[in-house]
Amino acid sequence: MNDRINNAAYACGRDPETIRLVAVSKTIPADMVREAINAGVIILGENYIQEAREKINELSAFPVSWHFIGHLQTNKAKYAVRLFDLIHTIDSLKLARELNKQAKKINKIQQIMIQINISMESSKSGVYEQNSLSLIRDISCLQNLSIRGLMTMPPFFNSPEKARPYFSALRELRDKIKKEAIQNVSMEELSMGMTGDFEVAIEEGATLVRIGTAVFGKRN
Ligand SMILES: *Cc1c(COP(=O)(O)O)cnc(C)c1O
Repeated sequence: MNDRINNAAYACGRDPETIRLVAVSKTIPADMVREAINAGVIILGENYIQEAREKINELSAFPVSWHFIGHLQTNKAKYAVRLFDLIHTIDSLKLARELNKQAKKINKIQQIMIQINISMESSKSGVYEQNSLSLIRDISCLQNLSIRGLMTMPPFFNSPEKARPYFSALRELRDKIKKEAIQNVSMEELSMGMTGDFEVAIEEGATLVRIGTAVFGKRN
């Protein structure tokens, strides 16, 4: 997996060190995750709080970082701040406020990403691009949250090139928000690209690629 990421980076003149693999372990049992860790995986991505709690407990001896990449319900915020180093999917002020409150209780600065619904599909999570700047300004005032960048999921295509415009749109939005130089907001990370399209996402500037199937094999 790392070879494919490195090759994609070199092919477009990027330093591979600027791209991190988030191995997506949803539905994958702890034993298989342990094998991946032993093979060198250092960041894992989970979608479901309950499943992640058990797995993270079981693998607590390993010095790995856990990221939350699923849809976060407000009532699970208190677990999320205890379990995850980075939460990729913040898309509302209500959720951010609750997360801030829970992070404060445990004296933590929670690292987060803002999920953008770049394709404007009504079925999808994420804030619309046109509302993103004001959301980020509002969240930047919450003292126990730290915004690191943007995340998106393009529509599903069977050809990775079709996802490219969505990835480049996310990068352009990131650049635009960066120019605003909002206090307490870093726009260094772009979480985009999965098994089917991560090479294109890397060409378009991804710094975190979320890859499940190509790491663990097909999920049930
Ligand atoms: C499952 C999932 C992935 C990984 O998908 P693969 O196609 O298996 O690489 C990435 N991101 C999110 C948000 C996911 O839910």
